[in-house]
Amino acid sequence: MKHILLIATGGTIASRYTSTGLSPQISAGDLLSFVPEAKQICRIDVTEPFSLDSTNISWKHWLRLSDLIRQHYEAYDGFVLCHGTDTMAYTAAALSYLIRSSRKPIVVTGAQKPIDLPDTDARTNLLDSIRFAADDRAHDVCIVFGGAVIAGTRAKKERTKSYNAFSSINYPPIAVIQDRRIIFYIDDKEKVSGDAVFSDRLGEKVFLYRLIPGCDGTIPDVLMDRYDAMIIESFGVGGIPDYGDGSLKAAIHNWITAGKIVVMATQVPNEGSDMSVYEVGHAVKNIYDIPESYDMTLEAVIAKTMWILGKTKDRKEFRQMFYTAVNHDLLFL
Ligand code: ASP
Repeated sequence: MKHILLIATGGTIASRYTSTGLSPQISAGDLLSFVPEAKQICRIDVTEPFSLDSTNISWKHWLRLSDLIRQHYEAYDGFVLCHGTDTMAYTAAALSYLIRSSRKPIVVTGAQKPIDLPDTDARTNLLDSIRFAADDRAHDVCIVFGGAVIAGTRAKKERTKSYNAFSSINYPPIAVIQDRRIIFYIDDKEKVSGDAVFSDRLGEKVFLYRLIPGCDGTIPDVLMDRYDAMIIESFGVGGIPDYGDGSLKAAIHNWITAGKIVVMATQVPNEGSDMSVYEVGHAVKNIYDIPESYDMTLEAVIAKTMWILGKTKDRKEFRQMFYTAVNHDLLFL
């Protein structure tokens, strides 16, 4: 029988109603007691490093979780991480970079309804996750939710209430789970070889600048001293607006000459960026050679930028790592 470590971190799945709203109250061991069938699938130990609404989870928790998995890596065949849904896509992306080439699965799951309610999705999601973590074909970081298995770098929370909260963006789901059967669409464990590679540092000084029509292009200058990297979340396939004063282009110039990293991403969730299409993107890309997200999710771009900054601030090295695919994050180049 496989041996799985269940890591509980809070979220709706473990929440109860209180007079001030839902908050995590159900312990890791109690979560497991709601899915007694799990005992027939594998042996499970539990741990609970913290119990939070995932709104309160930051890059510091990502490092703690990666370190916890590193400490227990040899002792277990796989890991199931229960997590709130609100920032789950960020955590799954961050763990994909912090723990690379893992032949052991690290499955992130949660629920839209607490596990102790009669009409919850939590029991199915938890049981599906345990079943997937115990499958020989499973590897690396993924999210199991609503019957879909999504690569850890490809998930986005697109629905606040429905049970199919997460979509797999610009990439097919790894598998689907229907009536206890796992149907793999991407069965590629043979490509993962060697030992898992853990990182223990992130560079968190990343500023996300979401553009709006008519936005003030001088904002990045005001913030420049506080950050190492700026991700510009632009429109469509990607362009830098010029509202007459050239201020945003000047700000990009200032950041780059100050040795900072600038990355382009898009507000459109599907199909990705391609700055070379329009004049408004082409010129800036050509002058500054700014890396762009292409088909990566914004969550992956943010986590990948922090992960790379934990290793280097050199623009050339940054670019090379940014464009190296990790856990299916990037196809289009
Ligand atoms: N606010 C909750 C959380 O992210 C939502 C959920 O888990 O569904 O922790």
